[in-house]
Amino acid sequence: MTGSSARSRSRTRRWVAVFAAALAIGGLTAVAPTAPAPSATAATSAPDPDDSRPIYRFWSQGYDNAHFYTLDHSEAQNLHTKDGNWAYEGTDFRVWPLESGTCPAGTSPVHRFWSSAYSSHFYTMSASEVERVRTTDSNWNYEGVRFCSTQSQSAGTTAVHRFWSPAFRKHFYTANAAEAQNLRDNDANWNYEGVAMYAPTSGAGSAPITGAAAPRVGCQSPALPAALAVKDAARITQLFGGAGALRDAIAAGRADCLPLDDPALPWVVVNKQRAISPLSYTPPSLTVPSSSLVDGGIRSDAIGSFEQLQRDVANSGAGRIALTSGYRSYATQAAIHRNQVALLGQVEGERLAARPGHSEHQLGLAADVVACGTNGCGSLYSFAGTAQENWVRDNSWKYGWIVRYESGQSGTTGYNPEPWHLRYIGVDLARVYHDGGYHSLEAFFGLPAAPQY
Ligand SMILES: [Zn+2]
Repeated sequence: MTGSSARSRSRTRRWVAVFAAALAIGGLTAVAPTAPAPSATAATSAPDPDDSRPIYRFWSQGYDNAHFYTLDHSEAQNLHTKDGNWAYEGTDFRVWPLESGTCPAGTSPVHRFWSSAYSSHFYTMSASEVERVRTTDSNWNYEGVRFCSTQSQSAGTTAVHRFWSPAFRKHFYTANAAEAQNLRDNDANWNYEGVAMYAPTSGAGSAPITGAAAPRVGCQSPALPAALAVKDAARITQLFGGAGALRDAIAAGRADCLPLDDPALPWVVVNKQRAISPLSYTPPSLTVPSSSLVDGGIRSDAIGSFEQLQRDVANSGAGRIALTSGYRSYATQAAIHRNQVALLGQVEGERLAARPGHSEHQLGLAADVVACGTNGCGSLYSFAGTAQENWVRDNSWKYGWIVRYESGQSGTTGYNPEPWHLRYIGVDLARVYHDGGYHSLEAFFGLPAAPQY
């Protein structure tokens, strides 16, 4: 069975960007080790091919073209029927199972690594490579010996070829010579690294994988491209299995198909490391809420819930709130940033005001609110400690809004605490954010802290 048709479904649309990003990551070459030459040392005794079994092979589009190989039947069966992130591709090369924790006579250990940074596994028989990766490359966590094989070519064996993709940051192995040749000739995503091991061509069978495959979820879902094309956040969330599953997929690196920088989607992350794209972005439709001190509005997908929040805080007896800053254009943000920096200097000024192109206000999904009473409305700086602020802090998530710049989070967000700055991420995601006890979008999505530009 070949998976090359599956792999050639790689996202050419974003391939160049991914490739460029991968090249930009320091130390990447360290994780693309060249396959060791097969050992010249002959095995002391020939292993018995009848004890070898074919390995189960899986492919995941959600994990950005990851492949996974296991000899463990229950693990493979579970992946097939319960985990919609993985597609079973059939069996591939033969390996020997461990016997009481050791490799059978004539075989040697195949070591396995896992990288959460790359969302992928890596297998090698080279003891020196194992040592080098363990001691010099923190991207990979050593998982131990999972099965056994041979490093020498002999009668009745076939080469297992090893590839590395800088674009996907994945390894791939196959004993199918035609598949390997096809990748080498026709798929620039994959670099050939040589022979990983020699596998017997005959032997025992592996127990079959049975039952219906789990429905494809997230990036694997056949319905996702259409939902992404029309930027249907609710449908996308549903195809990931709900907002909690969506968050988990993003944080675990299973959502590479899902742009976190698309300003049209409510989970867009804008911070000092992530500019709005495009910089000239203008929301398609803006509405000024009924209780507002300004002209700048809120986007159509968020205005209804904002006005409901305004009504409910007043109905609760905590008092009214008013919008004092909603949408701000790039030019407006540039002026605000200029003024704050002129007033306070670069460092202090930028703890308060974002550089143009880096403000959530340009999304139309941010709302600065103030507390209002019988004598009118207070300022941003008098919002903290008001009954309104207490109510908003405890309840805004129910409306899809989070307090974006919390106290104690400046090292992550790069901003002083702003209890007045609310950010819409959608009701379902905001519930997951609240229930999970998160205090920044960066932590929520597993993104690096962004304290500085
Ligand atoms: Zn703000």
